Amino acid sequence: MIAEVIVDIASGETDKIFDYLCDDDVVVGSRVRAPFGPKTLPGFVMNVKESTTYPKEKLKKVTLCEDELPALTTECLRLANKMAERYRVPKALTLRLFLPSEMRTGRVRELIRNYASLNETDGEYKILKTAKNQWGALEFLKENGKTDCAYLNRVFPGAVNALAKKGYVTVTSEQLLRDPYKTMDGEKVERILTPDQTRAVSSIQRDAKTVQLLHGVTGSGKTEIYLTLIANCLKKGQSSIFLVPEISLTPQMLSQLRSRFGKNAAILHSGLSAGEKFDEWWRLRTGEAKIAIGARSAIFAPLENLGVIIVDEEHDSSYFSESSPRYSTFDVALLRAKYNKCKLVLGSATPSIETYKKALDGEFGLIRLTKRINQRPLPEITIADMRREVRRGNNSAFSAVLKEEIEKCLQNGKQVILFLNRRGYSQSVICKECGYVVKCEACDVALTYHKEEKCLKCHYCGSMYEPLTHCVNCGSHKLSYAGTGTQRIVDELKKLYPSARILRMDNDTTRGKEGHYKILKEFGEHRADILVGTQMIAKGHDFPAVTLVGILDADMGLHFSDYRSGERTFQLITQVAGRSGRANEKGKVVLQTFNPENDVLRFAVSYDYEGFYRNEISRRAATAFPPFSKIVRILITGEDEKKTVESLKTVYLGLKELYQAQMEKFLFFDRMKAPIKRIENKYRYQVLMRLVDTSVLADVYEICAGARSRDTLVTVEENPVNLS
Ligand code: ADP
Ligand code: ZN
Ligand code: ZN
Repeated sequence: MIAEVIVDIASGETDKIFDYLCDDDVVVGSRVRAPFGPKTLPGFVMNVKESTTYPKEKLKKVTLCEDELPALTTECLRLANKMAERYRVPKALTLRLFLPSEMRTGRVRELIRNYASLNETDGEYKILKTAKNQWGALEFLKENGKTDCAYLNRVFPGAVNALAKKGYVTVTSEQLLRDPYKTMDGEKVERILTPDQTRAVSSIQRDAKTVQLLHGVTGSGKTEIYLTLIANCLKKGQSSIFLVPEISLTPQMLSQLRSRFGKNAAILHSGLSAGEKFDEWWRLRTGEAKIAIGARSAIFAPLENLGVIIVDEEHDSSYFSESSPRYSTFDVALLRAKYNKCKLVLGSATPSIETYKKALDGEFGLIRLTKRINQRPLPEITIADMRREVRRGNNSAFSAVLKEEIEKCLQNGKQVILFLNRRGYSQSVICKECGYVVKCEACDVALTYHKEEKCLKCHYCGSMYEPLTHCVNCGSHKLSYAGTGTQRIVDELKKLYPSARILRMDNDTTRGKEGHYKILKEFGEHRADILVGTQMIAKGHDFPAVTLVGILDADMGLHFSDYRSGERTFQLITQVAGRSGRANEKGKVVLQTFNPENDVLRFAVSYDYEGFYRNEISRRAATAFPPFSKIVRILITGEDEKKTVESLKTVYLGLKELYQAQMEKFLFFDRMKAPIKRIENKYRYQVLMRLVDTSVLADVYEICAGARSRDTLVTVEENPVNLS
């Protein structure tokens, strides 16, 4: 038999399919090891055939990796092919998305352990005196009993095999499954659905449209709807994928899923060890587990016979990949839903403008949940006008009304969440004499002062610097620490409320596998009174004792020149506000702003998504921004500025031809430095365009793929989440 193999080369540059000889047990989708030049590399079998035109004597042979099933299903192969075509990247690159990276590199395997144990004998061993290893192993086994062969082979090379052949020891295999959540056994709660939830479930299942948007206010019980959909699929023997933003994979959520679905659920997330990921992945591949739960990359779960795909918090920007290929999770999910003829359910309290438009246009089904569970009211949002505070001489981060509310909460034994989307102590260090801003040496970015670690940190590359005593430009000692971050907020709170227990949750406090969990658990168990955090506190968390949320700087996102800044601000405010008053007590929200008359804030304060949407969509239509056009950015980065500019020129000239030939499809076309000119020592240039007709996209990708070189990276981004 002949196998057509894609060799998984690290650079991913080659995408040639090579013919190899293979045994009969090699099937499409198998992982193989293929001799390639002087090396043997992992590869994927894309096709199997009877014969080849390639000269027989030159054919080499692949060996099968010992998988009980081909690693890639037919659907996965098709999808990988489609994505490679769509994003013009080598197939080796898209194929990788479908396997845990640890598996590709062969660094982890099933934890199959072989154990050796002694057989009963009459005490006589026919072993040569000189066979020291065999005698050694024998002695060891007598003393210690059953032992891992890997250990014995290391200490007494060759001995186990020899002893087994002679019948003195028996080797047994046992597979160890690494279960990341052994310790999680929450109580099983199966709730009776409310009439609204029942209606939503049946409407999703019955409606003919593939994509269903579940637009439900925060606390309306969307999770219960997802779980019911999954359970219904399970009853029919179908599998499901449930995607959530990484940060929502809280212990609460995980134990809820585990208690509900037990071993049927496999959980994939970045906190797992390589071995755990591998085992969870195989449980899905073999069908032992039928539900894949995870962040973005779980969309590639190796499940067959899908019954539903759920994307919770569908507006979340984490659903766009930030590394090549820069796929949209939604696009992949839609392909999978169509292939499996199943529903794709998008859920959100604040759907993205694009999604909502499609729902209104009738392309997606639309289900609305306008009330919280048990008719609990949405928390009332009070605006604190920070201009007035300043006029009254209050220059602190807290308005009078917020301070008052915090006090009330603390007195009543309730919990408070304070939201500020900026970590560190101060945002930047500026010289008051000459205006010099302290920047990172590797990036064109202002450094943030971190008081706790006593250093200046770059939030782009993570570099740390000694704090300055004077300005390096003019020598002045008058340095100002401008802009407040979460660390400073905690400092100020400690002064205001010395007895309050305060937790901080941001990128600095949540490092490591258990980082988020520990903080969320502590807060959830009411072992703290105030939680200060960045946007990672906004999502999904359900803390019943929280009755006050303070949004310290609602304006922060509004001033970005990004066309989505209004949408983001609305979403964030709604999400954060939604953390308040989720149980029996009515919740409150204080929103601090210098722009109280801003449209976006006004709609957010009254929970008027429809109003916000109408306002936003007409603005987008008038300015021809997405969804009425598509923004495409080609980012060219490289360490050598000259070569980067060279690359930019090549790309630009290629694209310019395209532009000149089909100008009517472009609203905008130009090249420039990226807003942040350097990150991690790499220079950044871009070609920016706005398309009214996306039929040129394939050519854009083609031109950019052609401009790839050793020294520079060329990436194409569609409607990029981050334009810095
Ligand atoms: P959402 O995801 O829409 O923000 P959740 O699914 O977190 O809302 O539900 C909000 C709260 O209501 C949760 O505490 C949840 O346990 C509770 N809840 C949901 N459905 C029901 C139900 N049918 N009966 C009782 N409580 C429910
Ligand atoms: Zn840096
Ligand atoms: Zn200075």
